[in-house]
Amino acid sequence: MSEFREFLIFERSREGKVGCPLPACDVPKPELSQSLGAAGARPALDPFPEVSEVEVIRHFTRLSQWNFGVDQGMYPLGSCTMKHNPRINEAMAALPGFCQTHPLAPDEAVQGCLTVLNTLGTYLSEITGLPGCSLQPAAGAHGEFTGILVIKALLQSLGEDRKVVLVPDSAHGTNPATAALCGFQVKEVPSDAHGRVDLEALKSMVDGNTACMMITNPNTLGIFESNIKAIADLLHQHGAMLYMDGANMNALVGKARPGDMGVDVLHLNLHKTFSTPHGGGGPGAGPICVCDALIPFLPQPWVVSNAEGLMLSMDTPQSIGKVHGFYGQFGVLVRALTWILTLGKEGLVRHTEHAVLNNNYLRKKLEPHYHIPYPAATLHETVFNDKRQNAFGVTTMDIAKSLLDYGFHPPTVYFPLVVHGALMIEPTETESRGELDRFAKAMIEIAEMAEKDPERVHAAPHRTQIQRADETTAARFPVLRWSAT
Ligand SMILES: *Cc1c(COP(=O)(O)O)cnc(C)c1O
Repeated sequence: MSEFREFLIFERSREGKVGCPLPACDVPKPELSQSLGAAGARPALDPFPEVSEVEVIRHFTRLSQWNFGVDQGMYPLGSCTMKHNPRINEAMAALPGFCQTHPLAPDEAVQGCLTVLNTLGTYLSEITGLPGCSLQPAAGAHGEFTGILVIKALLQSLGEDRKVVLVPDSAHGTNPATAALCGFQVKEVPSDAHGRVDLEALKSMVDGNTACMMITNPNTLGIFESNIKAIADLLHQHGAMLYMDGANMNALVGKARPGDMGVDVLHLNLHKTFSTPHGGGGPGAGPICVCDALIPFLPQPWVVSNAEGLMLSMDTPQSIGKVHGFYGQFGVLVRALTWILTLGKEGLVRHTEHAVLNNNYLRKKLEPHYHIPYPAATLHETVFNDKRQNAFGVTTMDIAKSLLDYGFHPPTVYFPLVVHGALMIEPTETESRGELDRFAKAMIEIAEMAEKDPERVHAAPHRTQIQRADETTAARFPVLRWSAT
């Protein structure tokens, strides 16, 4: 594909080319160092590409086409819930009353915006079964941070100095990172043979020093933690709380409410479950929902209603304070509310059912070809691995790279850590049966190729612009600045 090689824009540069020609200057050219003073003027600019408008547009358009996004095809990145982002969400978020409102406008001038915040908070509380809600956190990890600070504030108000946060060994890395960042000691709870939290081990770990446990449900293997109520009861008996990582709520919305299972705090990833765009670094939103006892500690300000309508209140003296500028990622919140209102209660339930159905349809098709290390029933995603393909020297990474040749984004790989060579596939409800069939066919062909021609799989991808990048070096030592040398 070398004919499609894209030059760096600097390599296209030709002296004197401009994007937008201006008429000749008819006033004397000032010396910048005179008007700005010697200290204000830069000695020399880094080389700047000199290119025409069409060259700029083509360069960036071509680069954008090499990228892979959820608008191009199936993106079964497990745990990330890469569902379709309906365009009505964008239309609503772009309404001038929303996107052109000043964040410091007085409450009486922004009753519509406050209604969005209030209504969304109410719906999220209804969906999770937890009465308090803060929309401020900007992402799931930020929601975890906020939720753990809220728990810590409650414990402090009770004069308790508990030091330990329990985290299952299948947890997402942000869970132990959050607990450590909030000053807690992290203890890892083992999984049992079925991929669930080992209840007996947990019993021996919970004591008066436990602040809380962070649990994902369904867990990162896609398996429902059926002991969740017993886990919650155990923690509560010891005065500890249960935090639920809600990244997998796509399996539960409208079907089961974490609040009813004994969960005390939960974050939602609106950019996963609630169809707002993600990837490329955001913005997203990670609201938290909490039980009654934690409401006084939620971030400020929050929306309250009085005789004149809605207002933002700072009247919560025990609040942990602010965790985001203004009220959070307002545009993302509008998108999530739009999604909820578009679907309605029945629509939300139907989407959850389709997410689970799609996963299990795909699982049945792939089961004869790929090993499932924890064969318990799964909800919205399934973790396979490369055990069978390993016999021919083919690894998870080879399988993931091969999928690129079929026009699919690879699944999540090598996570969760409890599975060796994990391939975590989450189709989401937005894929049609036809698309699931095409994906399954590609996966099956790759499994067959792994047997017959392992070298070819090992050398994949064959049809992309770049073959195998050194991802570690690219992530650790990114080259973000061009230099002529
Ligand atoms: C995505 C994810 C997170 C982190 O959420 P962000 O919105 O990316 O910060 C935490 N836990 C699990 C299980 C996740 O899938």
